Amino acid sequence: MRMCRECGVPLLVSKMYKWEDNGAIIQTGKQPIRMSFFDFDRIDGIFNGLSEMIGIPLEHITTECASRNARQYVDNIVPSPLRKTLRRIGFKQVVAYLCNLGKAYGYGTIRMLEMQRGKGGDYRLRFLVNNPHSLAIICGNILGAVESIEGRDAYSEYRQTDEDEYEVVIRLGSHRVELQGRFEERRYVYRPGRIEYDRCPACHIPLDMAAYRWDVETGIISHPVSKERIAFFTPWGLDAMLNELEVELQEAIPDMVVETQRLYARDRLQHITGWNEIETLFHGLAVRGLGSVSSLELDEDHLEMSVENSCMEPMLAGTAQGLYELASGRDSSTCRWNVTPDDVLTVEILRPQ
Ligand SMILES: [Zn+2]
Repeated sequence: MRMCRECGVPLLVSKMYKWEDNGAIIQTGKQPIRMSFFDFDRIDGIFNGLSEMIGIPLEHITTECASRNARQYVDNIVPSPLRKTLRRIGFKQVVAYLCNLGKAYGYGTIRMLEMQRGKGGDYRLRFLVNNPHSLAIICGNILGAVESIEGRDAYSEYRQTDEDEYEVVIRLGSHRVELQGRFEERRYVYRPGRIEYDRCPACHIPLDMAAYRWDVETGIISHPVSKERIAFFTPWGLDAMLNELEVELQEAIPDMVVETQRLYARDRLQHITGWNEIETLFHGLAVRGLGSVSSLELDEDHLEMSVENSCMEPMLAGTAQGLYELASGRDSSTCRWNVTPDDVLTVEILRPQ
């Protein structure tokens, strides 16, 4: 994989993504796709937290959602006539390309070990996955990519073969869980912005991105100081997963997500204690593609924030709440948040009455 000689970020990334000046990262191409760059520990935190609150395991649903997301993604980047041809002539090279993409995006390494495409029971694709950012999501991603190319439903199974190593097998057949939701892609409304990044002189990627360690051998992108592991993800994929859960489980999922993130921040972000650090953290959302903070007020009694071009709003609201509580030394607070039809998030955190 070729890396930028100035900043060390894979050229695949700088070629494919554009950091806009409005807090969005856009995957360029025929059909622009919004992307974000964030901590996967947190995604697992959301699903583990929800699973605990609801009292059922959510792994199958996570995999199912991720597979739909990936199927749509590959449908978008591989045109339908090409998919038909690939079905006939085989698709090892496309799989290799997608696995390479996975390494540049921080998904760990995925290798195809076996491709047996016989009819019915003879169909078996076997993959070896090392250092997955999230195993449930990786299984879904592989599944969805295969389904897109084959144009048929399939299912995935995995078993652990070593530390951080898993074998994932894809077979044709119906899904473990059938979700009722429509899994619609969210259409973001993009407002213009005025953010100026310091950019790499060679590949033009914001230099904040180059601060991460891009290890393309292992497929791990991590921060050298905080050790936080980061990966690219379509934010609407997570939004859609949460919508699905809401339809499926008839629970107030967004409020639960806020609560999981409040707890996550209180537990994991204890090193961020001062108001200035909180401000810096929220202004840093933009480079991760999570929107642009247009106003932020914080003191002992409240935190008020507006974010333009927002996405994954319950996550941000819960994080804001947790950080407010840490900084003000309180055990609880009230949180109100709202998203306007043109994607402006407002969050208001107040001290308990
Ligand atoms: Zn560069």
